[in-house]
Amino acid sequence: MSDIEKSRVVVILCDDYDEEKVYERLKCGLDELGGIGLFVKPEEKVLVKLNLLSAAQPERAVTTHPSVAKAVLRLLNEEGCADVKYGDSPGYGTCESALRMLGIDEECFGARMTPMSEAEHVDFSEGMTCKEFDFCKEIVESDAIINVCKMKTHALERITGAVKNVYGFICGYRKAAGHVKFPNDTVFARMLADIHRCTKPRLHIMDGIMAMEGNGPGSGTPTPMNVLIVSDDPVAVDTVFCYLVNLDPEIIPTNSQGMRMGIGTDREEEIEIVVCGEVPGNNEGDPTNEKTFDDTCDDVNVDTSRSRTVSKNELFEKFGNPNFDVPRGKPRGTFLMRYSGFMTKLARRPMIDKNKCVKCGICVNHCPVPGKAVDFKNGKDNPPVYDYKKCIRCYCCQEMCPKHAISARHGLFGRKDK
Ligand code: SF4
Ligand code: SF4
Repeated sequence: MSDIEKSRVVVILCDDYDEEKVYERLKCGLDELGGIGLFVKPEEKVLVKLNLLSAAQPERAVTTHPSVAKAVLRLLNEEGCADVKYGDSPGYGTCESALRMLGIDEECFGARMTPMSEAEHVDFSEGMTCKEFDFCKEIVESDAIINVCKMKTHALERITGAVKNVYGFICGYRKAAGHVKFPNDTVFARMLADIHRCTKPRLHIMDGIMAMEGNGPGSGTPTPMNVLIVSDDPVAVDTVFCYLVNLDPEIIPTNSQGMRMGIGTDREEEIEIVVCGEVPGNNEGDPTNEKTFDDTCDDVNVDTSRSRTVSKNELFEKFGNPNFDVPRGKPRGTFLMRYSGFMTKLARRPMIDKNKCVKCGICVNHCPVPGKAVDFKNGKDNPPVYDYKKCIRCYCCQEMCPKHAISARHGLFGRKDK
């Protein structure tokens, strides 16, 4: 018998955002981890950190869906937690405007919205890559953090999930400085792992009922993945996300660096995947004849006895999406490409679609590089232009563009990511 201690990751099947269904299924999935009470105590100050990248309609899949946020807050309320706050520190706009768009800007199941707009400096001498942070004060004041992330693609790290979501712990505009200080995907991922090591979120819940593929995290295409993923291991959550879209978890810097820095595992043999919410087929008890919720399940309630452990391959074959639009190729020598004349023209980089650009200047304002790597060099009547020699490929411009005019592309002819 194996004596490896495994990270348990529960994949909860759920094919729509019906509030009652999401609540019941999340409850059922968390029971597979021991219940939400295993992660919080009633007397503790709890912060539920959502993904509120910008004020966007829930169906755009930019933000954590309100049904998922409400389900978490309801479970905490039922657990007797009396001091619960929820919010995020968005890169663009305010927490309030994002929550208003989601319809959860009032008190919700006894929990209070919190703006996450005041910073508190924290020294972290144990940091391996980053030894100080300007966190939102709510991060510092809370006893327990629940990280409620969204399943999306990301121009810098390829995917954003449980590991990346903690960048919202950094207060407001201070995030820009972090991109300059940690200017590539690997060192940025290491800094994220240090945030996890410093703040130790207790539980990670990924909203992948409607995920985002393509030009994420703000301008991609919503695509149904029909799952919630829960675990106390953020790397394992993101690894299971990779399994579901047939992406090698080890090429994702937040996985590989997160694993190296001890915040979780991306090793198949160290992850136990439990699927929750299947409905039996005709041959009762025959796991090969299980049908998914898609076929037969209109019920809100789920029989927890239906939860079972599955392999990575079975997970992908039954519930995965091989066509999920995410770059799958091995990383290239971006450092050399970036700094070597002609090669600069071939490297992956942000590009503006002139037909979509409305010349608002938000990309220019959010470029964190001193002297700006994207600017109105041809006047404000024309789209901004890039200086790729200055550009550190942080993709803040792409993330913030409200018109989805910027995407990451390769080469002289702007080939899309593969
Ligand atoms: S943010 Fe987008 S729309 Fe605005 S100027 Fe930049 S590319 Fe154009
Ligand atoms: S131009 Fe865009 S990708 Fe380049 S440094 Fe500025 S914000 Fe980052």
